[in-house]
Amino acid sequence: MPLLAANWKMNPTNEDDALDLVRGVLGVARGHADRVEVVIIPPFPWLLGVSEVLDQSGVKLGAQDCFWEMSGPFTGEVSPAMLKDLCQWVIVGHSERRLYLGETDEMVAKKTAAALSSELGVIMCVGELADHYDAGTSDEVVSAQVKAGLARCSADDSARLVIAYEPVWAIGSGRNADPEHAYKTMRLIRRIVGEMIGAGAARKVRILYGGSVKASNVQQYVELPLCDGVLVGGASLDAEEFAAIVKVTAEVYGHR
Ligand code: PEP
Repeated sequence: MPLLAANWKMNPTNEDDALDLVRGVLGVARGHADRVEVVIIPPFPWLLGVSEVLDQSGVKLGAQDCFWEMSGPFTGEVSPAMLKDLCQWVIVGHSERRLYLGETDEMVAKKTAAALSSELGVIMCVGELADHYDAGTSDEVVSAQVKAGLARCSADDSARLVIAYEPVWAIGSGRNADPEHAYKTMRLIRRIVGEMIGAGAARKVRILYGGSVKASNVQQYVELPLCDGVLVGGASLDAEEFAAIVKVTAEVYGHR
């Protein structure tokens, strides 16, 4: 099933607004839950409240990050063991964490393996910077991130593994990637995943596009043959806009 993930990032700043937002998308998302797996990914403090609104709806919940150890002296960190009864998914290696918090490929690999071992689904983010794109080195950069990030994974993890291809220059910039570029990179990712965990298992790994997706441009990505959905940041903070993205995605995949 295609996956549509709403990364709220560090928004909204109060719980009432978070609950209003999730209630605003729930009607539409629930109505399409048989065709699109919608995952709402709020900040940690709103996970519990949002989980109560989503209860029994078929719409899933995710966290924006996790640590690689399950417990211990790691002040400020949240472990997969703490998340597994609360949500189904976790984002790992988002470019904002790589850029602002120094997250390395090795850390992404450790987090991915830890989350998978706790039965969480993992949305692992990869993507090149604008300089790489301009220099024509996107493929090398993305290949290296995928290889390093999956270093501790096996074929058994494939059904709970999602790779989001998010060119960093497209995130929050309003400059979404050309579908041709997105397609070529997703094809490369699929090939590398196949080399790492076997072609059969790789077919179960879902690959998303992310970067300035909105209702008016989502169709061109979800129509791509290798695209299994999208990761949406800014546009997921507007209930009507996100509901429109859900509808377009459900319609396209309903016709496949
Ligand atoms: C993201 O945060 O993963 C993202 C894709 O953001 P935006 O949709 O705002 O570009």
